Formats: sequence, structure tokens, C-alpha cells
Amino acid sequence: MPTPDATYASPAAEKAWADHVILDHFYGHLPPEPRRTPMRELVSTILSHRTTHADEELAYDRMLETFGDWPGVLAAPTAELAHAIRTTRWPDTQAPRIQEILRRIQAETGGPFDLDFLAEWPLERAMAWLNDMPGIGLKTSSLLLLFNYQKPVLPVDTHVHRVAQRVGFLGPKVSVEKAHAVLLALLPADAETLFNFHKHNYWHGQQICFFLRPNCPRCPLKGFCNYYLEHYGEATPEALAATPTQWDPAAWGKLPH
Ligand code: SF4
Repeated sequence: MPTPDATYASPAAEKAWADHVILDHFYGHLPPEPRRTPMRELVSTILSHRTTHADEELAYDRMLETFGDWPGVLAAPTAELAHAIRTTRWPDTQAPRIQEILRRIQAETGGPFDLDFLAEWPLERAMAWLNDMPGIGLKTSSLLLLFNYQKPVLPVDTHVHRVAQRVGFLGPKVSVEKAHAVLLALLPADAETLFNFHKHNYWHGQQICFFLRPNCPRCPLKGFCNYYLEHYGEATPEALAATPTQWDPAAWGKLPH
């Protein structure tokens, strides 16, 4: 695991690194790996907008069952594509977006529906190309480039954002969008570290640092968390000693993928 400079760039960088080291031990270090193929990551993001995971999967499966493959999806009448993905929230908006994305990929590769050319591109160019796609934001671009191509970027969702603000290494007024660059600047530019930081803080927001009533007694970050200090006072030696040091799947359940 790379270490930042012995002298931290700022108190925020020191806290972010402490958060990373503690959660890395708490949840376990992970090898960087994709959640799904790059094409699926990109297209599923469009389908997932304000849609449950089950309905997003249904739409994805129906789309490929109906039209067979990506050339079939691109050639389909847009209204029929919208019908196939009707379990998503806004099929009439998403169908033309998917076809536009497929057109742009085809224009780039000269045929195949494959995003692997992004691996060869400089990070800034890959990021700009993805961000220019209709319906694709900074979080999706970062997820795809980090998870699928091990580029040193940091996806920030509401869970990562909330934990960072409560612990206190992200300012209270920094938006999720702006947090991408702010948090990235606090951490080493190393894809494996950023992958683990993202996954662990995402799990932490989902499993312990809930939006409503965070489970602070179970939290290993309490010793330096601003929210804890504000609500419970300085963490006592007894409170710290009673804090679990590792996630217990037998007692608390398996962590999501
Ligand atoms: S101590 Fe509480 S508020 Fe702070 S990170 Fe842990 S769960 Fe969240």
C-alpha cells in the first residue's frame, strides 16, 4: 500500500489517510476488479437512473433479448427500444441516449462496440470523452475508468460524500460533484488505493454511517470523527476499546459486491 509523504499536505489529507488505513483493515483490502464489463457499466448507468436495481437488470436483459446484440440495439426503431426498456423510469429519454452512445463508440472504434481503447488514452482525454456522453456524469466516468481500466480517479457517491463530511476531511459545503477532485487531491494517485478507498467508504456509508442515525458505537473512525465529537464528545478509552476492529459477516451480514 503506498504511503503519502511523511509530512501530510494538510490536516484533511492526514484524516483521509487515517480513514483509508482503518477502513482497509476493517473491511479488508481488495484487489481492484471490475463490477461488470465496460459496455454494461456504461449502458446500465443510463438504465439505472431513478430505477431499482431489479428493474434496471430487467430492462438490460429485455433489451438484449429483443434486439440480440449492440448492432441490433443501435439499428432498432427508437420507440421499440423504449418499449423494451420500459421498466426504467424514463424509457423515452434513455432509448435515444443509449443509441447515441453506441453511435459514438462505433465512430471511435470504426465498428466494434468495445471501450478498451480508453485503456490506451491519457486519463484527461478518456474522462472528457466519457463526460461528454448524454446521461453520463463524473461518478460513472470515474467508476468505469477506475474499476475497469485502473486509472487513478475517485468516484464519489452520496455514501462516500457523507462519510468524508462527517469525519471531517471534506468541507460541509462541497457538493458531491466537486468532491471528486477535492478528495482525489488528498490521496495518493494510485488506482488500488483509490479503489479500496471508494469501496470501503461506500460500504461504510451503507452499513454503519447511515444517513439517519449512524451506528457510531460500531464505527472504527470514532476516534477522529467530527460528527462523533460533536454528538458524543471525545471518544473515551472504553468506547474505543469496545469498538470492533473488523467487519463481522457472521453477525452483521455479507457485504454487497
Ligand atoms: S463515528 Fe459515526 S458519524 Fe463518524 S464516521 Fe463513524 S458512524 Fe459516521
